[in-house]
Amino acid sequence: MKALLIICDGMGDRRCASLGGRTPLEAGRMPSLDWLSSHAECGIMDPIAPGVRAGSDTAHLAILGYDPYKYYSGRGAYEALGAGLTLNHGDVAFRCNFASLDSQGRVVDRRAGRISGEEAQVLTEALQENSLSNNVDFELQHTVEHRSVLILRGPGFSRNVSDVDVHNTGATVPECRPLDNSKEARRTANVINEFVRSSSGILEKHEVNSVRSSGGRMVANAILPRGAGVAPELPSITEKFGIKAVTIAGGALYKGVSRAAGFEIVNVKGATGTMDTNLEAKMMSTIEGLRRADLVFLHVKGTDTASHNKDVQGKVTMIRKIGKSLEYVLNHVDLNKTYIALTADHTTPAEIGEHSADPVPIAIYGHDVRSGGTTQYDEAACSRGALGRIRGLDVMPILMNYLGRTELFGE
Ligand code: ZN
Ligand code: ZN
Repeated sequence: MKALLIICDGMGDRRCASLGGRTPLEAGRMPSLDWLSSHAECGIMDPIAPGVRAGSDTAHLAILGYDPYKYYSGRGAYEALGAGLTLNHGDVAFRCNFASLDSQGRVVDRRAGRISGEEAQVLTEALQENSLSNNVDFELQHTVEHRSVLILRGPGFSRNVSDVDVHNTGATVPECRPLDNSKEARRTANVINEFVRSSSGILEKHEVNSVRSSGGRMVANAILPRGAGVAPELPSITEKFGIKAVTIAGGALYKGVSRAAGFEIVNVKGATGTMDTNLEAKMMSTIEGLRRADLVFLHVKGTDTASHNKDVQGKVTMIRKIGKSLEYVLNHVDLNKTYIALTADHTTPAEIGEHSADPVPIAIYGHDVRSGGTTQYDEAACSRGALGRIRGLDVMPILMNYLGRTELFGE
């Protein structure tokens, strides 16, 4: 028996006025989604716990079977692992983005006018030449769009430092501050502030920016590190459940969380982690993955991206694309031998644009599961299903039970 876990990022929603009081799932109804829930155990899930607003990182840890309160070690670490970098004990990793600041140091755009990946790559290479005092060893690697990952190498650093980032344009970029009294946190904050300052010097003079500025585009004159993290220490999914697992995802974070948990990462061409991702290619890799692994985790990011952009219609469109892809999966797997769980990692109400703590729908299909009269895949319909209300941490044990991988408790 095999299991396919599909997590559509931020797919849960609330009633949207612009959809006549429906949620995007209710508005985007697709036959494949309805079929799945009609043959599934349905319910709702609190990714972490009721009332907890989950980030994608902590929610994914929980759904993949790892208590985030025990194992979460900062987002930067997962981004670094997802970008294929190695994190050694003692290293501290940050996610970074290029931004545009005005002459007063206020943020004009956190994404540097949506600078292209190619330009960001050239700027990142220039910043690799940055030399920090006391020969501090660092690694900087471009990932996608305006994003990159920074790793401070070696002992004597701490992840207990604040973000060099603001969420509102117009605000002044803060300095990195130590969040405890340790010498490591103070040193880390100093190194980060030095890195940010010296990077600005290099960026201001860089040709990429002169070209951008003469073309009337925003310059990428700052790099902002945030989400300090250290190497996560998780027991692998194979140690925990005795299974081989594969991940199909575009976004670095999801690859990183999976890599930390011992999943094999399949890099799919065209899987971008954005709304224009090549879902067909991902589905083909999913089918292929199910042939050689016990569990395939398939991640789709577009629903969350649309939600953060407050693009309600875009979210509905993305849900329809997911419905089409699911149809492909249903037509290409052995439905007598495959359990399929479809859920989200958290709710991101598209009219609000940020994650909320509302539970998400979940449906677990299997030829022999006790489906319970749910006929639609959406928040309200699933909440009336047989599975009731579960937590993210319950998902893997439930799937492992179906795969026959669960040990008897007692005798
Ligand atoms: Zn998410
Ligand atoms: Zn999000």
